[in-house]
Amino acid sequence: MANFLTVPLGYVAAIKGGQKGLKTVCIDGRGALGGTCLNVGCIPSKALLNATHKLHEAQHSFKDLGIVAKEVSVDYAQLMKSKEKAVKGLTSGIEFLLKKNKVDYLHGFGKFVSKSEVEVALKDGSKDTIKAKNIIIATGSEPSKLPGNVIPIDEKYCVSSTGALSLEKIPKKMIIVGGGVIGLELGSVY
Ligand SMILES: Cc1cc2nc3c(=O)[nH]c(=O)nc-3n(C[C@H](O)[C@H](O)[C@H](O)COP(=O)(O)OP(=O)(O)OC[C@H]3O[C@@H](n4cnc5c(N)ncnc54)[C@H](O)[C@@H]3O)c2cc1C
Repeated sequence: MANFLTVPLGYVAAIKGGQKGLKTVCIDGRGALGGTCLNVGCIPSKALLNATHKLHEAQHSFKDLGIVAKEVSVDYAQLMKSKEKAVKGLTSGIEFLLKKNKVDYLHGFGKFVSKSEVEVALKDGSKDTIKAKNIIIATGSEPSKLPGNVIPIDEKYCVSSTGALSLEKIPKKMIIVGGGVIGLELGSVY
């Protein structure tokens, strides 16, 4: 029986648990650790934002500094590649950090079967049940549907922020529903 069970981005909490000497298990169904932030949130969005900011500077600000940048354009496939590299570099290190801090990692989706037991449907098709005294639920959030669901999010025509991070090509026109940080950020990118 574990004394401490977490579900990431509880990976930080899991590492702390391990460091404090608690028998700790970290369950995540995604496949790459680091949750939304590292996989489809802060990191890929900032990678795109940073690159497109540089493009904007080259196109609009360099000349004021006396730098002539001719024919600056976008290699979209390379832009996506460099974003993926940033994501891979960070997410691949987390499994190592868990191991280093003696945290067991279970790749699968968990569901409560009692208040102290979580059943995990493991990626390989088997099941495991973890009993723990202390459990942190850190399952994050999913993009909400548009009211009425008239236009379903299919991640092609109508995309969530996740789809917007990996569009097949740069769209000529785009409507952004939601003027929060993420909408503004990804709007700036495109
Ligand atoms: C495009 C975008 C840009 C962002 N930029 C920033 C930023 O610049 N700065 C910032 O501070 N925040 C940013 N955020 C927000 C940030 O990503 C989230 O606040 C943060 O990831 C939330 O962490 P969390 O641990 O609550 O959940 P998550 O990171 O969502 O992690 C939850 C994890 O639990 C897994 N999970 C869910 N259910 C189960 C289950 N039943 N069993 C097993 N695993 C499960 C999920 O697969 C996921 O891996 C951004 C978000 C997006 C979408």
